[in-house]
Amino acid sequence: MRRMGKHILILGGGLAGMSCALGCARAGLRVTVLERESEVGGLARSFSQDGFTFDFGPHRLFSQQPELIRELGELLGGDLTQRDRRSRIFLKGRFFHYPLRVGNAIFSMPPLTTARILLDYGAAKARYLVRKSPDRSFEDWVVSRFGATLYRIFFQQYTEKAWGIPCATISADWASQRISLLSLWDTFVKSVWKRGDQPRTYASSFHYPRTGGIGRIARTMAAEVERLGGTVRCACPVEAIRLENGRVTSVRAGGESFSADEVISTLPITDFTRFLGEQAPLEARRAAAALTFRAIVFVYLFLDRPSLSDDHWIYLPENRFLSNRLCESRNFSEHNAPPQKTVVCAEVTCAVGDEIWRMGDEELSAKVRQDLLNLGFAAIRPEEILAVRTIRAPECYPIYDIGYKERVEAVLRFAASISNLLPIGRSALFRYNNMDHSVDMGLRAARALLGQGSREEALVVASGAQYFG
Ligand SMILES: Cc1cc2nc3c(=O)[nH]c(=O)nc-3n(C[C@H](O)[C@H](O)[C@H](O)COP(=O)(O)OP(=O)(O)OC[C@H]3O[C@@H](n4cnc5c(N)ncnc54)[C@H](O)[C@@H]3O)c2cc1C
Repeated sequence: MRRMGKHILILGGGLAGMSCALGCARAGLRVTVLERESEVGGLARSFSQDGFTFDFGPHRLFSQQPELIRELGELLGGDLTQRDRRSRIFLKGRFFHYPLRVGNAIFSMPPLTTARILLDYGAAKARYLVRKSPDRSFEDWVVSRFGATLYRIFFQQYTEKAWGIPCATISADWASQRISLLSLWDTFVKSVWKRGDQPRTYASSFHYPRTGGIGRIARTMAAEVERLGGTVRCACPVEAIRLENGRVTSVRAGGESFSADEVISTLPITDFTRFLGEQAPLEARRAAAALTFRAIVFVYLFLDRPSLSDDHWIYLPENRFLSNRLCESRNFSEHNAPPQKTVVCAEVTCAVGDEIWRMGDEELSAKVRQDLLNLGFAAIRPEEILAVRTIRAPECYPIYDIGYKERVEAVLRFAASISNLLPIGRSALFRYNNMDHSVDMGLRAARALLGQGSREEALVVASGAQYFG
């Protein structure tokens, strides 16, 4: 393979990019990865500070493919541990199991609400049986299957808070990929008897590196790529992409010019199109300009307190809380925090440049402390706060608004016309990949480059309406 001398340029060193680089480097291809940040890992990156290790919010590794987990375990030298999952949702002043256990969710409500949920559900079910109307929006999808009351209580608030747009304008695709259960009956069967395929959200355990945070996976991949002779350039942001005769001929990054035989792009679909400028047709540029990502401000409170709770994460759907979700790094691995100390991460979703995005650390930290107090945790005294850190991530959630699919297809059609380019990964495909999907895509892309598989086999991962929560 080395004699083939094929040079692969990979734009972005997240899990998709690094897995592809690893697959190529192992087969002897020449690989160069260009990563904007000072470290690889992308959204599955970890940070360290004063003996703490923490991720971009909670990151649990789960896959329907045991082989993939086994491979990652080997990569980490057996240091991938299995954890029992504990997560809850706080609603109407009390905690519920998450994922929702239907009996727990419905029958713990005030009796009148329970009655209304059941009545609405019955009516929705009857309507659904008589006439299936097409599901255009998230709201249509959920109301037609669960009824309006359950929708309002359990789905609407959280979704609108996380996405920042009304559920009636969110595509039904989002529901089909994130809500596995077609009806309350299915929910009941799956939660009580666990029959049939085990959907992701019901996975009671997940994997996580013993040390180094979730980012250790990408870091280990990068070290292995370099050991095999590949190049990983961090702090090297792609700025422009040049095309000639339907091929990428050069990429400008970090003030230098790079060329290669084949290019894999994991850059956000929006930036990728921007870097091509007028070389991209107007239709693709317009489509890309109308796609948006939801951003997150991650607020980390480093505390001189052994722990807050033993949950991996807690969802906070109500608007009275600033945060959408809380997690505690030490619950993922005890090595993530010094003894008797903890770090709490609050995720606050927002749009780049809005009031939350611009909010100062002090105000964010005060609001998160208020959230913790409202949840019933003992007030955090000023002397318990060891440090506060905020990290702003602009491209966290691709927004599946109505019409997004046609826009994504327009850009990807154009990308497919570039003969030596393959876009893969979460932001490049504007697809709600989880980590395992991105790793799988990267490895399949490497196989396609080696002539052992097709591009389509890489692109099909996590497509379609199957559930992968
Ligand atoms: C808050 C949160 C929680 C999550 N929790 C889970 C979970 O529990 N389980 C799970 O499986 N998945 C989870 N995910 C999803 C998971 O993080 C992603 O699916 C995965 O990390 C995506 O990898 P990727 O390589 O496809 O994309 P990315 O990680 O986005 O990689 C793209 C890379 O390109 C780089 N880049 C961007 N622009 C440029 C440029 N101009 N030049 C060079 N490089 C550039 C970026 O810095 C990044 O490294 C979560 C995501 C978020 C946001």
